[in-house]
Amino acid sequence: MSDQHSHDRHNNTAADIRPNRLDNYQDVFADLHPPLDKHEALVEADRCYFCYDAPCMTACPTHIDIPQFIRQIAGGNPQGAARTILSENILGGMCARVCPTETLCEEACVREAAEGKPVRIGLLQRHATDHLMESGVHPFTRAPVTGKSVAVVGAGPAGLACAHALAREGHTVTIFEARPKGGGLNEYGIASYKSVDNFAARELEFILKIGGITIETGKALGKDIQLDALRSGYDAVFLGLGLGGTNRLHIAGEDAENVLDAVRTIAELRQSSDLSRLNIGKNIVVIGGGMTAIDIAIQIKRLGAENVTLAYRRDREHMNASLYEQQLAQTEGVVIRDCLQPEEILLNDQGQAIAIRFAQTEQREGKLVATGATLTLAADQIYKAIGQKLDGQGLGASGMEMSGGRIKVDTENRTSVKGIWAGGDCVAGGQDLTVASVQDGKIAAQSIHQHLMQLPEAVSGFAEAVLAANRKDLPSLHPHAPSVHNHTTSSSAKDH
Ligand SMILES: Cc1cc2nc3c(=O)[nH]c(=O)nc-3n(C[C@H](O)[C@H](O)[C@H](O)COP(=O)(O)OP(=O)(O)OC[C@H]3O[C@@H](n4cnc5c(N)ncnc54)[C@H](O)[C@@H]3O)c2cc1C
Ligand code: SF4
Repeated sequence: MSDQHSHDRHNNTAADIRPNRLDNYQDVFADLHPPLDKHEALVEADRCYFCYDAPCMTACPTHIDIPQFIRQIAGGNPQGAARTILSENILGGMCARVCPTETLCEEACVREAAEGKPVRIGLLQRHATDHLMESGVHPFTRAPVTGKSVAVVGAGPAGLACAHALAREGHTVTIFEARPKGGGLNEYGIASYKSVDNFAARELEFILKIGGITIETGKALGKDIQLDALRSGYDAVFLGLGLGGTNRLHIAGEDAENVLDAVRTIAELRQSSDLSRLNIGKNIVVIGGGMTAIDIAIQIKRLGAENVTLAYRRDREHMNASLYEQQLAQTEGVVIRDCLQPEEILLNDQGQAIAIRFAQTEQREGKLVATGATLTLAADQIYKAIGQKLDGQGLGASGMEMSGGRIKVDTENRTSVKGIWAGGDCVAGGQDLTVASVQDGKIAAQSIHQHLMQLPEAVSGFAEAVLAANRKDLPSLHPHAPSVHNHTTSSSAKDH
């Protein structure tokens, strides 16, 4: 039986769910890692050995020159440090907040190996990028306009990184985004305590300052716009769709109203203007073992749930959440229980979930097997955090090659369909991290740029004029879209 909220409920017990569980909501999602002040940053920067062949740099998926930016901070030049960071990772501000540095750069830091105390690279990165963003300066200028146009679908980290890099080269980018706001999971998914003070929106605004990027929100591929139209209307297409679909548990009781999708709930609380109005259960069971499971568990606990248990089907070593994240959840009062495979959700007479029964598991010869024992936990709300999947609706009959339910791409992030690149969570083989999505967007942008520059050269000024003239021709696509323009017809997205 559970140590904390064992199941002794009856069919006529109502689930205990209500708003206003806290007396005071101020600082409920206070910054997890408050920023360093100037003195702290200088002291921390001084700890760096400025290693030759720095392992931290290799461990960073975007290969930021970490010793270089730390040296710039140490030399009193945080603006220069920010430029070093942003030239490799334009979302360096968000990555400084959300990267699991304990498994990336800081794990690789030689001071971690030597003394178990790495240079706090993430916080130094935040110090530099915050400094620059507060100054209101955008550190890059756009190359002369090329007349080439690119459609980016999805305004998440992958799409934004791709769009910024292309705009910087002088190409004109239109981002089509299904949601009302840009930012992707930075805006709708990242835990509130990692991204405070509306940072996702501020960073988006900062990125767009490069110029040449238009975001069309409320435009979903497969519904409001079609892939074929993008392919013929633009010189190249980048898909940064993320993973919009949710996995199912496939157990009885799963469709009860208080069995919830963790990602959807996080989006609601990220967008909530009044946290006290959110309905929070007393006893919570979160199912999953990754970052999303940790994030929902901590946020719901902070919103006043009394008992929060995170149940994972395998043993703790197999959890995707890092040891640091597991410890963080425990510090916040979340109980982590491993080796529990959900078997059935028990409902009351009104059809509400009131408990969940698990089969206890163990690993035998590499296989997960049920031991025969079961455990039932009382639950007023059950959150599923068991992974996302690609909602491939928009891909229609494009014939795009897939792998494991995600889009297959080559080393340049090209899909199997000519003229279409993809990156971020929607592609196969990725790490499902913000920083990895940025890198995908960057790689795709380099490849798209090379492709575009091999196309017949745009005549200066002429292309812009054609684009402007044709904007009115494609009302079904969006009010600013270029139609198929003659100078690129032979070089449309189909031709790469
Ligand atoms: C709850 C949660 C917490 C996370 N926390 C962290 C963390 O702390 N650190 C970390 O590194 N990573 C974290 N991640 C992972 C990280 O957020 C993702 O890896 C990253 O956001 C992926 O970027 P993306 O651009 O590929 O996709 P997304 O950020 O998902 O963006 C995709 C965008 O495409 C749009 N879109 C989708 N379909 C269509 C369509 N048909 N037409 C038009 N637009 C469309 C979506 O609305 C969205 O805006 C977390 C993920 C989740 C779910
Ligand atoms: S590994 Fe650590 S000490 Fe070496 S350059 Fe990177 S941050 Fe500095």
